[in-house]
Amino acid sequence: MGILDKLRARRQTAYIKIDAHHCVACWKCVKSCPKSVLGKVDFLGHRHVKIVAADACIGCLKCVNRCPHGCITSREN
Ligand code: SF4
Ligand code: SF4
Repeated sequence: MGILDKLRARRQTAYIKIDAHHCVACWKCVKSCPKSVLGKVDFLGHRHVKIVAADACIGCLKCVNRCPHGCITSREN
């Protein structure tokens, strides 16, 4: 995997994309994901969701529906 692919894999899977700017670190999306695709950045005041296993995403969109701040969207939109 090249560097651009690695950067992309932190922001999106085949089905969803993340904009963590408005993330309030409630972790609802992390808990909703049945495939442990999403993880937490929680380090020295930096708290937001991140993608940890992009290839595992099955596109169920539970995370999209769970986020109260619209940080996660379907790539089909
Ligand atoms: S679409 Fe489903 S499998 Fe993919 S990250 Fe969201 S909850 Fe997890
Ligand atoms: S549900 Fe939304 S606000 Fe909560 S941790 Fe996930 S992306 Fe952030």
